[in-house]
Amino acid sequence: MLLTVTTTHEPATDLGFLLHKHPDRVQQFRQAFGTATVCYPQASAERCTAALVIEVDPVRLARTVGRGSPDFSLSQYVNDRPYAASSLLAVALGDVFSTARAGRCAARPELADTAIPLEIDIPVVPCPGGPAFAERIFGPLGWRVDARPIPLDPDLAQWGDSRYVRLSLCGTLRLADALNQLHVLLPTLDESKHYWQGSDEVDKLLRSGAGWLARHPEREVIARRYLGRHGSLTHAALARLAELGDDVPESLDPPADEDAEDGAAPPDVSASGRTELAQPRVALPPNTQPLNLQRHDAVLGVIADSGARSVIDLGCGPGALIARLATQGQLRRIAGTDVSTRSLHIAARRLHLDSMSERQSGRIALFQAALTYEDPRFAGYDVAVLMEVIEHLDPSRLDALERVVFGAAAPGMVIVTTPNREFNVRYAGLTGPRHPDHRFEWDRTEFAEWAARVAAAYGYHVTHQGVGPSDEALGAPTQMAVFTHE
Ligand code: SAH
Repeated sequence: MLLTVTTTHEPATDLGFLLHKHPDRVQQFRQAFGTATVCYPQASAERCTAALVIEVDPVRLARTVGRGSPDFSLSQYVNDRPYAASSLLAVALGDVFSTARAGRCAARPELADTAIPLEIDIPVVPCPGGPAFAERIFGPLGWRVDARPIPLDPDLAQWGDSRYVRLSLCGTLRLADALNQLHVLLPTLDESKHYWQGSDEVDKLLRSGAGWLARHPEREVIARRYLGRHGSLTHAALARLAELGDDVPESLDPPADEDAEDGAAPPDVSASGRTELAQPRVALPPNTQPLNLQRHDAVLGVIADSGARSVIDLGCGPGALIARLATQGQLRRIAGTDVSTRSLHIAARRLHLDSMSERQSGRIALFQAALTYEDPRFAGYDVAVLMEVIEHLDPSRLDALERVVFGAAAPGMVIVTTPNREFNVRYAGLTGPRHPDHRFEWDRTEFAEWAARVAAAYGYHVTHQGVGPSDEALGAPTQMAVFTHE
């Protein structure tokens, strides 16, 4: 099994930094099922290719197959697993390039964050749906897809094509995104499921899919094939994707400032409103909006009722709420801040900040900051929003955030939303938090106690409401507290 990654972004040998594998060396990595080798067939300043070669040891492979491994009968790997790229290649790629997938690169941090020209080549990959299916899976992500069916026997054309294709992908993407996409999507090309399944498989899918899966038109097929026959896991993954909305891979970003031990949560997500995914398994009236949009509506409603003229979105992520705030004519000043520069870049792109009229762009400011450090730029707004942010902070850093937001910035109103943990039983198959990056999730009592304590300490009055379809016993999926300065 072979996969090559090529870039022409000069100096192309920087690919070695991004992959954390030196172009001059041949490196081997032991896998549960064999050996993965990384080497560079070419490495010049103009063009550099890294190859990942997997050799499967059928004996070792057989030993790794436990009773819990679904869909992994002897016949399957005896047939083609050692030769055809599929889930084993995806697993090896995930493992060998884990740092690169996380977008971490101390030597070339900006490059890790930059979309660069990439060519991916996989000589043999099982793809029973043929070129059209490969296009459906990779095309929406911006890849130019060239999938050529491999004939069963080149000398016997009448036998027709095999279920394998040679897959070439060309595109301009962040290397981390490309690797995460391959990690998730290679096994989905093949109907026989991904064989590597643990209880945290949904979390892994959400993590690898951050930034692209929620918007992928084939996300249902992808989740179903990635998670295999566990229908409940697929359902949970889709419900959580819907809740998170247009998530972006900041969760994979390196901390903005290595020294700032601000608990700056590897951030995760935001919402664009483009998703129409499944909702949590609750009785919903037809046409109910995804939860992330309901959250926006709730926050926008409170802001409109308050008569505010200026709003700051703290932990704005990729700017979905800011985009909606920008349409509110009564708002004279809008700011968004986040610890993740990558999120802010996406927000700026989404808002078309560079092509806005001066009057419009003067109204909107985006800046990078950590919410656990006092910053004069946080002050002077009528309303501050903390939408799905506090649960990303380490509990030990919450007091710093309280001082910074309620103490120092002290806006007239603070709107805080956070998941209601009690509601999580409604997400089939969910055992941990809704998103792997959440440091905690509060039940309604815990949130109310926190809010009451903060309000008393900083001179605010607080009210609560639920957002989303409410359950009599469990409450609503999202809880919202509105603090008004006394
Ligand atoms: N408010 C957005 C994004 C929520 S995700 C929405 O509701 O869609 C949480 C966001 O908080 C991430 O973008 C993350 O980068 C940001 N964040 C986490 N810890 C932070 C900190 N200490 N300072 C500033 N931003 C932080």
